[in-house]
Amino acid sequence: MSDAARVIAIANQKGGVGKTTTSINLAAALAESGHKVLLIDLDPQGNASTGLGIEAESRTLTTSDLILDQLSIDRVALPSRIANLFVCPANADLSSADMELMRNEHRVTLLRNALRIPHKIDIDYILIDCPPSLSLLTLNALVASDSVLVPLQSEFFALEGLSQFMLTVREIRQTANPNLRIEGVVLTMYDKRNNLSQLVEDDARKTLGSLVFSTIIPRNVRVSEAPSFALPVLSYDSASKGSEAYRALAREMISRHSKVRESA
Ligand code: ADP
Ligand code: MG
Repeated sequence: MSDAARVIAIANQKGGVGKTTTSINLAAALAESGHKVLLIDLDPQGNASTGLGIEAESRTLTTSDLILDQLSIDRVALPSRIANLFVCPANADLSSADMELMRNEHRVTLLRNALRIPHKIDIDYILIDCPPSLSLLTLNALVASDSVLVPLQSEFFALEGLSQFMLTVREIRQTANPNLRIEGVVLTMYDKRNNLSQLVEDDARKTLGSLVFSTIIPRNVRVSEAPSFALPVLSYDSASKGSEAYRALAREMISRHSKVRESA
């Protein structure tokens, strides 16, 4: 791996909050702006792989092999239909991987070790789409990552469970990965006609301050339609509000990175 590759876990132990959607579309937005991106599907449901058009039959090697057999990403990553965007696909094999991890003494560092295996494909960003749990798979992602990006659904109870998640991040920092940063929290499925969305936003900004991205992802039907066409929304409907929002998120994230570098 080129030293510059930045590894970002997309995680939240709640399901249905927009992790996979954000993984796919942030990856697509980064790829569209010329970055080389690898999306690692770490959810046994394999939704990120399906949403990017990776056929079930072509998933002969998966993230499960990457982790348990310590294969290099050169072996496992497949090109997607999007230029600059590669995928380490997943399928149900990952659910048994989770159990095998429990028996392995290196149970939380295997993904990090696999990503450190020298490889030829050139990657700027690695995004990891996590399962909806604080399982060993998610812990592997947090240990392997430079930062974690947390999608927060603009719904009641959104902030519930987040403190548990932040505690987990702190524990990982105190043990296996002292450099783990919070990339940011992004509000997803925001409906500006619904007061609740505004309330959740106010609450999130009050509680989490500058951790919350200025960019908000609106609820947009094009975003939810795109996976059934096996495309990111950026390709399915390039001018949609959802596409624009994910492009803005990518820009905001990149500009935050350059600010961090300038102040370093
Ligand atoms: P997770 O990976 O956290 O379980 P998903 O990304 O799969 O969540 O999103 C859950 C559901 O919400 C999916 O059906 C997805 O299409 C839909 N969804 C996600 N983001 C949006 C959005 N911005 N607008 C409309 N629907 C969305
Ligand atoms: Mg998902």
